[in-house]
Amino acid sequence: MMYDVIEIRRDFPILSREVNGKPLVYLDNGASAQKPQVVIDAVTRGYAEDYANVHRGLHYLSNLSTEKYEGTRGIIARFLGAKDEDEIVFTSGTTEGINLVAYGWAMPRLQAGDEIVLSVMEHHANIVPWHFLRERLGVVLKWVDVDATGALDPQKVIDAIGPKTKLVAITQVSNVLGTVVDVKTISHAARERGVPVLVDGSQGAVHMPVDVEDIGCDFYAITGHKLYGPSGSGAIFIRKERMAEMIPFMGGGDMIREVRKDCVSYAEPPMKFEAGTPGIVQQIGLGVALDYLMDLGMHNIAAHEANLASYAKARLSGLNWLQVQGHAPGKAAIFSFTLDGAAHPHDISTILDKKGVAVRAGHHCAGPLMEHLGVSATCRASFGLYNTEDEVDALVDALELAHDLFA
Ligand code: PMP
Repeated sequence: MMYDVIEIRRDFPILSREVNGKPLVYLDNGASAQKPQVVIDAVTRGYAEDYANVHRGLHYLSNLSTEKYEGTRGIIARFLGAKDEDEIVFTSGTTEGINLVAYGWAMPRLQAGDEIVLSVMEHHANIVPWHFLRERLGVVLKWVDVDATGALDPQKVIDAIGPKTKLVAITQVSNVLGTVVDVKTISHAARERGVPVLVDGSQGAVHMPVDVEDIGCDFYAITGHKLYGPSGSGAIFIRKERMAEMIPFMGGGDMIREVRKDCVSYAEPPMKFEAGTPGIVQQIGLGVALDYLMDLGMHNIAAHEANLASYAKARLSGLNWLQVQGHAPGKAAIFSFTLDGAAHPHDISTILDKKGVAVRAGHHCAGPLMEHLGVSATCRASFGLYNTEDEVDALVDALELAHDLFA
């Protein structure tokens, strides 16, 4: 299939709007991606025509809504290469998915002195739940550094696995540096040592085809709003053996078989881990978003973004007053940078915004990485499937203006 980015952009109505009197150049996809019309229509239709609560009703709309909602489970399984859709637990996003593993799998199993291996590139969503275990149980967090280019040597992660290691929790793609981690090599080595691996796929699943069976991980978390789907949607793949080891993290309706005054029994997984009324329409929208991505082809999206990344790299490296953080080979199209002098990333992004260029500034929920880099904040331009080389040029023009203002 020919990847026609101009044609694809027409699927995203927001991309034709202006911001501050300038055409929108949306480069904040790492934070959240825009939605194609098919997703917007699915959400509108979900409420306007098909809405009712799922699982409980015996009426027409409840059955229809349940069928569409449950349909997303199979779509996610296909998108992630899971063998069985029962290995997919719906969540509100990656944060909930990782907390489910922390509370449902790790909390009842780990003891003082047990270790969890992490990289310094992790997002707070893949750090703070493990700090809870450190604070409450005395679990030890073992941090693996990245090298000067921002690359993570998989062997360093494997070497950090010792007899007390109970889990490796690692991102597939850094939301700050764009570094792609070889989670397959890590997962296979960890499995040989009997250690489960949790992959934070928040950024990875957006930029490349994913096959959890090929990777060999035990947990793989995704978040719908970065995958061009609705916010509040998401899922986590949990290998059957791990699911069997888990206790429910949240209790309530829908996750039970029977409740009495003196006892309770639970539904079979994955429902056992899905308490309460879920994000019905959000998950239906996520299914449509993933179908949209699979129709475009994740390989095609990855190829388009690789071209954009090399163009952006070349353009940004021409600005000798700008420092890009992270040069790992094959990195995803995510560029964090700082400018010489006193200009704060927040001020830079405000100037870019005046030119219609949306980027993010701050610590990007990656405190340990900021510490490692020796900076308190960066600007981040993160590209998606609909971005163009013209938009890279618009970013560079706006940066030149910002530089002139602060020089
Ligand atoms: N991990 C990574 C690598 C991320 O980039 C993000 C979102 N910035 C998250 C986890 C958390 O995702 P969410 O807020 O959607 O739960």
